[in-house]
Amino acid sequence: MNIILMGLPGAGKGTQAERIVQEFHIPHISTGDMFRAAVKNETPLGLEAKSYMDKGLLVPDEVTIGIVKERLAQDDCKKGFLLDGFPRTVPQAEALTETLKELGRGIDHVIHIDVERGSLIERLTGRWICPVCGASYHTLFNPPKTAGVCDKDGGVLYQRDDDKPEVVTQRLDVNIAQAQPLIDYYSKQGLLRTINGEQDIQVVFAEIASLLRG
Ligand code: ADP
Ligand code: ADP
Repeated sequence: MNIILMGLPGAGKGTQAERIVQEFHIPHISTGDMFRAAVKNETPLGLEAKSYMDKGLLVPDEVTIGIVKERLAQDDCKKGFLLDGFPRTVPQAEALTETLKELGRGIDHVIHIDVERGSLIERLTGRWICPVCGASYHTLFNPPKTAGVCDKDGGVLYQRDDDKPEVVTQRLDVNIAQAQPLIDYYSKQGLLRTINGEQDIQVVFAEIASLLRG
C-alpha cells in the first residue's frame, strides 16, 4: 500500500503515521524527520536545510525531491510506504508521480487530516518530541505517563526550535499557501480523502484505518 499523509503542521501526521505503520507494516518516510536527522549529524544537507527550517520556510523543492527519490528506491519501500509531510508543493507532487511511474508504481491513498488554524497553534506550542523514537506528545492533549519522558523508551522529551510561537505563525502561513493547490491536484485524480482531524487521536486513527482497509 502506497500512502500519502497530508495536513498542515500540527494536524497530527506524525501521531497517526506512528500508528499506521505499526498496523500496516510499511516504512514511515517523513521528510521533516529526515531533515532533522541531517541537521543533528551536521551533514551538508543538514546545514542547507537548517537555514530554511529555523525560519519556518520550506526547503527548496529540488533538495527535498532528491532525498525522497533516493529513499523510495530502497528495498523496504517495495512492500509499500507512508509519506508524511511530502509532497507539500505541486512541483513535489508532480515529481513524485513521475518517480513512481518510473518505478512502475502509483499512489493508492491520499489522506488529508483537516484541522483549524487555532487548534494547530495550540498543538504546536504544546508539542514535545522523543529524541530516540520521534514520538510526539502534547502537554494537555496527549501527555506522557511520566512528565518529560517518552512512554516507549524513556527518552527525555524536547521542544522543537521551530515550534516556538514566532516561527509557528510563519510555518503555518507558508504551508497554508501551498496546501490548496496540492489538495486540488489529488482531488482531481480522485485520490483525496479528508478526515476531520479535530477529533480524538484514537477516533482519527479508527477513521484512517477503516479507509485504508477499504
Ligand atoms: P510538521 O511536523 O510541523 O508538519 P515537519 O517536521 O514535517 O513539520 O517539517 C519541518 C520542516 O522541515 C518544515 O518546516 C520545512 O522547513 C522542512 N520540510 C519538511 N518537509 C518538507 C517538504 N516536503 N518540502 C519542503 N520542506 C520540508
Ligand atoms: P504533525 O506531524 O502533523 O506536525 P503531530 O503528530 O506532531 O503533527 O501532532 C502535533 C501535536 O498535536 C502533538 O503535540 C500531538 O501530541 C498533538 N495531537 C496530535 N493529534 C491530536 C489530536 N487528534 N487531538 C489533539 N492533539 C493532537
